[in-house]
Amino acid sequence: MSGSFPGDVIGMKKTYKPETVAAQAGGLIDADTGAIVPPIHVATTYLRDSDNQYRKGFSYGRADNATVRQTETVLSVLEGAERSLLFGSGMAAATSLMLALPRPAHIIAPHVMYWGLRKWLLDDAPALGVSVSFVDGADLAAIAAAVRPGETRLIWAETPANPLWTITDIAGAARIAHAAGAALAVDSTVATPVLTQPLALGADVVMHSATKYLNGHSDVIAGALSFGASGTLFERCAAVRSHHGCILGPFEAAQLQRGMRTLHLRVRAQCQAALAVAQHFAQHPRVTEVLYPGLPTHPGHAIAARQMTGGFGGMLSIRVTGGEQAAIATAANVALWKRATSLGGVESLLEHRASVEGPGTPCPPDLLRLSVGIEAVDDLIADLEQALAAAG
Ligand code: PLP
Repeated sequence: MSGSFPGDVIGMKKTYKPETVAAQAGGLIDADTGAIVPPIHVATTYLRDSDNQYRKGFSYGRADNATVRQTETVLSVLEGAERSLLFGSGMAAATSLMLALPRPAHIIAPHVMYWGLRKWLLDDAPALGVSVSFVDGADLAAIAAAVRPGETRLIWAETPANPLWTITDIAGAARIAHAAGAALAVDSTVATPVLTQPLALGADVVMHSATKYLNGHSDVIAGALSFGASGTLFERCAAVRSHHGCILGPFEAAQLQRGMRTLHLRVRAQCQAALAVAQHFAQHPRVTEVLYPGLPTHPGHAIAARQMTGGFGGMLSIRVTGGEQAAIATAANVALWKRATSLGGVESLLEHRASVEGPGTPCPPDLLRLSVGIEAVDDLIADLEQALAAAG
């Protein structure tokens, strides 16, 4: 896997800041043409050397691809990672990590987390030799108490966590994991590498639904794992990706790379706008509660202020006066916000989350989840104002 390959970040000084590396997607200039946007490598197979070796580092497209590798390298710089792996979705990334754990595998995961992965852990993981204990992700003592010596392989954290934006103390969770001989993985989809650096705080793996902020334009499904060290866990995840055939395609990787060029600009704008929306509706008569880690009223605010830098993210939730029907009616009346699932794109989305998550969700029925885009914040506030009034 070593040596000179088209995925190397070349021509950029190590001292450059992450946004500089992101803006130029690693600064790679195509050696043959001088193109400042690298070509997309579509080959599925690669020429062997005459002595039967693959010295250029690539053999078959299900295991690796030069465009994918280049995009991974940019992400590694942003996360301070040694290596990253891109997958066909965030779910493929997360489940590959869990499938890569030695058996028997016990995982500690939070009650409040991305519902699709919670459902996989509940419904599918046990038959695959993976048992799970769900705990309050904001409570380090509860995480520590759930450790099963010799069996706990992974502590999974999501911070801020969908859809209450629960904050986990990453450094504290890392200490618990390492004392147990386990790894800490952080779903940092909502925080993005712009706002939180989980590996620097002690995590071993960072996971992203790259579908969200990393790509940022609601037009690519992708997932990522970034590793602090390229040791056994990285190698096992690379093997799972190859054996299960869930590597990201080269066209999607190129599009993701383009999206990542503007990551820092987008995330900073989305943080500012989300804070403005949160502050506006915090005292609103049609809203009983605003959940946003940037508000001092949020239970995770103090830890978020310590471990997030430059903002508290573009995601928040509001609880609507009048309960579930009022929340659904508010969603029905928005014009500018789009009633749609997902998050992290440049367009603002709003969703009645309990309807999506179904029975067993920790999400209150009166909650609307808001993903704040890059539109003028006054337009967003005015549209939500009129929708709340129309629902009332
Ligand atoms: N993690 C979080 C926080 C998410 O919001 C999502 C998707 O909504 C996922 C993981 C799963 O990612 P994907 O939809 O790319 O498979």
